[in-house]
Order: sequence, then structure tokens, then C-alpha cells
Amino acid sequence: MKNNIIGFKLGVVIMSVFVIVLLFLGIVIDRMFSSFYYKEMQTETNELASHFTVMAESKDTTSEQMMRTFAEFSNVSIFNISRDRSVSFHSGLHNSDDRSFIHAADLERIFSGNSVSFLYKDPGGNRYFVTGQPIKAGQTISSALYVMSSTASMEQSIDSVRVILLLSGMGALVLALGITWIIARVLSRPLVQMQKATRKIAAGELETRLTISSNDEIGFLAAAINDLAIDLQRYRDTRQEFLANISHELRTPITYLQGYAKVVKGELYETDEEKNLYLDIIDQEAHRIQHLVDDLFELAKMEEGKIPLHLEDVDLKPIVEHAARKLELTAKEKGLSITVSYSGQAVEVRGDRKRMEQIVMNLLENAVRYTDEGEINVQLNSTPDAVLFIVEDTGIGIPEDELPYIFDRFYRVEKSRSRQYGGTGLGLSIVKKLIELLGGSIRITSTYGVGTRCEVRFPKHS
Ligand code: ADP
Repeated sequence: MKNNIIGFKLGVVIMSVFVIVLLFLGIVIDRMFSSFYYKEMQTETNELASHFTVMAESKDTTSEQMMRTFAEFSNVSIFNISRDRSVSFHSGLHNSDDRSFIHAADLERIFSGNSVSFLYKDPGGNRYFVTGQPIKAGQTISSALYVMSSTASMEQSIDSVRVILLLSGMGALVLALGITWIIARVLSRPLVQMQKATRKIAAGELETRLTISSNDEIGFLAAAINDLAIDLQRYRDTRQEFLANISHELRTPITYLQGYAKVVKGELYETDEEKNLYLDIIDQEAHRIQHLVDDLFELAKMEEGKIPLHLEDVDLKPIVEHAARKLELTAKEKGLSITVSYSGQAVEVRGDRKRMEQIVMNLLENAVRYTDEGEINVQLNSTPDAVLFIVEDTGIGIPEDELPYIFDRFYRVEKSRSRQYGGTGLGLSIVKKLIELLGGSIRITSTYGVGTRCEVRFPKHS
């Protein structure tokens, strides 16, 4: 019961409704039967009285004997009563001395030509239907004929109907109790299961799953709980992976920092150039940590949806030109050329200027970083409903099986690349999130060893 309170409540409600309905039905059926039997008997007694009256009024000498036989046969008592209340004729089992059923008012009515009909209870507690009718002798009323019919057999019939009603009511109640118990269990069992499952999930057992698959609100709730558990599990796993990645990413530059700082501090170098080289490495690694922390902070803000966007109409052309110019020197040092081309009319979209600069810069930086020879081709194409920003390079490319993961946090193609080319493995995940925040989309295609193509689509809003 402790775990099945809702089942108990439900059971009480269903049973109460059932008992009320049964009681109501029982009373109605009992009333219907009683009034039916009463009416039947009243009609029967009235008809008998009419027959007896006809017999009493006939001049036939055998009529009295006939009346006696008929009364005996019909199991009724008859009284022929004169105006002075004396009994001139009596037949039947009812005591002839009992006159308490005769009332002056009734006699008055009968002697004025009417008939009376009523229910009478004798001093012994027996009940009768009584009908009184006038007996005519020519034009005058000579006496009153009372017919008394006992209600005992009718009451017996009503009693047996009541017993049947009571028994079937009790049967229905037992059946209802069984059905209620089953319904309560069927309804409450999944709720109890869900309660236990959510408690387990809250206690950290995130592998817990519910197997309820009904196609109703309970099934939907169970599916929602399962989804919640899956999300929590994924969140826990990615958080653990995330923390492991961060500590790993930080450990490498910190090891460099510690190592080279020790060398410089202990003056374990031979020339000043060597010392400067070590100091340069320390500077680079400090920047690397700074970059990583910035990226992480940015990503965390984005994931919490806390990045404020300053929307305006942004012309992408100067942004792309500025980024290309900025990277020209690095590209030249590597022997690369950057070409920028435009097609279409206006290249203005609604967006956040700073974020767009960040996206363009990041993709161009990647192209320069992962290309050793050849060229970087940047295009800005305006279509009726969007502006496409495309960066194509002739770099090292990305193997096809790794393409699906390049937007994951800390994912780097071939781990050895990271040291060689620098980078945190967070750039593309930040870029993708920013593009999505601005309502756009990104698609990267690549051929390993040949080159990579990044295509960003910024929708033009009306
Ligand atoms: P990183 O900061 O390490 O560049 P990104 O998230 O920007 O991280 O990129 C993820 C990985 O995708 C990189 O490690 C790199 O190997 C690969 N990548 C990204 N852009 C290019 C490109 N233009 N050519 C080849 N590989 C690329």
C-alpha cells in the first residue's frame, strides 16, 4: 500500500461510485417491483369485488354458496355489511369479529354508490387490500360488500425479489472489487516503476531505463524519462571527456613552460640565442594556454546560450577582404597565395559583425594552417535568399572517415598534426555553433591529400 497510494485512492473512488450506483439501482428496481405488485393486486382485488357484487346482486338462491366457494378458491375474505354495520354474510379466513377496517366515511361513500379501496393492517399485524362496493337491490343500495385480500403472498414475492437483488448486488460488488483492484494495479504499476526509476536516476544510476511502451500519456512520460536519462548520461560522459581533454590540453604547454623556465632559470643554455629561443617557446606556450582558455570560455558561454548577438545588416565583403589581408603575410611566408572573388549583387546579411569576422577568420586561418603549398581560394556568392562564403584550399585535407567528427570539441584529425600545426581542436566547434546561432549552416568537404572546401551559408532575411 505504501507504494500504491494512487491505486488505493483510485480504488476508493471507483468503489464509492460503484456502491452509489448499485444502491440507487437497487432502490429503483425495488420500488418498481413493489409498485407493480401492489397495482396488480389492487386491480385483482377490485375485479374480484366486482364479481362478488354481481353474485350478491343476483336473485339466485345458490349465489351465497357460490360466493363462499369462490372466496375460498380465491383465498379472500368477504363481508356483506348492512348500513347499521352488522355483518349479514361472511366468508374467508379473516376473523368476522374484526370490524376495524370499516369506517363510517367509507360506508357513507359506498351507500352513496361509490366504491372504496385501501390498504389495511389488522390488529395482528397482517396486511390486506380491501375493496368495498355497493350491492344494489333494484334502485336502492341494500348493503356494502367488502373483499379482503391478504398481501402475504405478494410480500413474499417482493421479499424474494429483494433477496435476488441483494445477492446480485453483492456479486456485482465483489466483481467490482476485483476489477477495481486490477485497474488500480494496471494504472499504478507503471507510475510506481517510474517513481523507482527516477529515484535511481537521481541517485546517479543513469543507465536506468523504463520498458513501458504503452501508446498513451503514461507511455509518453516513460519515454520522456528515458530521454532525460539518456541526455543526462551523455552530458555526464561528455563532461568527463571534456575535463579529461582540458587537463590533457593544458598539461602539454605547462610541461613546456616548466621545462624551459627551469632551463633559463638554471642558466642551462650556452648562447644568448639559445636562451632567446627558450624564452620564445615559453611565450608561445603561454599564448597557447591563453588561446585555449579563451576558446573554452567562448564555447561554455555559447553552450549556455549566453552569447549576446548584436544584429545589424552586415556587408561580408570588407570582412573577407580584411581577413585575407591579415593572413597574407603568414600565407606568403609559407609560399601560399590567397585569392578572393565575388559573384552576385549585394553580399549583405543580417548578423553580428564581430561573430562573422570570427567565423571568416577562423576558417581562413585553418586553410592557411593546414596548407603547405598551392593556393587558398575565397569566394563570396550572393544568391536570392542567401550569401555563400566559400574557402577552398590545396592543403593536406581530411580523411573521409574523420569528416563527421571535425565539429566535435577537441577533435583533431591525426593527433600528431596538433603539435605540428598548433590549434586547440575547438575552432570548428565554435564556428559551427556561431553559424547556427546566426541562423546559417556550414558544410565541409575534403579529399585527403588534395584539399578542403568549407561552405558557409548565411540566409538573407527579409
Ligand atoms: P584546430 O584549432 O586544431 O584547428 P579545428 O576545430 O579548427 O581545430 O579543426 C579540427 C580539425 O580539423 C583540425 O585538427 C584539423 O586537423 C582539421 N582541419 C580543419 N580545417 C582544415 C583544413 N582546412 N584542412 C585540413 N584539415 C583541417
